[in-house]
Amino acid sequence: MIDVNAHVLLIYTGGTIGMIENLETGALEPFNFSHLRSNVPEMKRLNFQVDTYIFDPLIDSSEISPDKWREMVEVVKSHYDDYDGFVILHGTDTMSYTASALSFMFENLTKPIIFTGSQLPIGKLRTDGKENLITALEIAADKDVDGHPVVPEVCIYFQNLLLRGNRTTKVNAENFNAFTSANFTNLAEAGVTIRYNTSVILRPDYSKEVVFYESFDDCIAVLKIFPGIPAGVVSAILNVENIKGVVLETYGSGNALTDEWFLSELEKAVKRDIVIVNVTQCLYGLVAMHRYEPGQDLLKTGVISGYDLTTEAAIAKLMYLFGLKKSPSEVRQLMQTPLRGEMNMDDD
Ligand code: ASP
Repeated sequence: MIDVNAHVLLIYTGGTIGMIENLETGALEPFNFSHLRSNVPEMKRLNFQVDTYIFDPLIDSSEISPDKWREMVEVVKSHYDDYDGFVILHGTDTMSYTASALSFMFENLTKPIIFTGSQLPIGKLRTDGKENLITALEIAADKDVDGHPVVPEVCIYFQNLLLRGNRTTKVNAENFNAFTSANFTNLAEAGVTIRYNTSVILRPDYSKEVVFYESFDDCIAVLKIFPGIPAGVVSAILNVENIKGVVLETYGSGNALTDEWFLSELEKAVKRDIVIVNVTQCLYGLVAMHRYEPGQDLLKTGVISGYDLTTEAAIAKLMYLFGLKKSPSEVRQLMQTPLRGEMNMDDD
């Protein structure tokens, strides 16, 4: 039920949704937010209040960094008590990374934070931006019968689907359905009505305050294996100065090559207290290292399972935990504990 007294803060960071074509160069460039409003006159018809906060400068999401995530947390934190929900307009390219990162920055979140954007600029006739924006705003303003927000989570709303942010991956650079949540059910589907999957939506403890975090430690690497990966590449990544965590992208249910040199490099890195998290290159399914011999060999090196974590969520979670100054053994333990609904550990 839309709360007519609701106040939603619309935070505009950049991305295709607010772009306009430079007629001389043909390139897409960000335009002033007032154009966004004039291109979406429907916003005036919303029966609740929407205020705006605009990033300066606006950023293409390929420029995103932990500093920008911090800025977003700061904006939400400083306006938290004044609004019922937040919509963040963000470029699609790294939206899953940002939604994953922000999910860890709010503990006991009591308000919706909905990311959206578009594949076509809002000024184009066939834009997907209008529907994404209007519905995201409505979701941010929606309350249940107790007056609580329907979705107090960090989510992505895109092309009719509301997805848990830290479960998403951008899978399409062409079609409007740019995101998927391969291993977790949709939180809502918008058709004639918005149908919420209320039984899976996270519930905070409303008697407690939300806790904000702002630090990320970016001493993280991703090692994606492929047939024929040179030993020098593996060694170079595992020996990057000050590296604390590595997301190891393996095959299928968590398998990798069984060559002596490879396993020994991993083992040496684990002994140096580097936390190595095994995630699968497959979009669907999870890591179950006990299933096959190559996976069992990896387990023996001290690599830990990331179960069905996306690479985006694994990177974000490592940055968050090391940002909290947790010790490597605490990080290992917390990487194997769901904190914000980011993973399912049922690997039997
Ligand atoms: N390059 C744009 C961005 O991610 C693409 C988009 O918004 O879809 O900022």
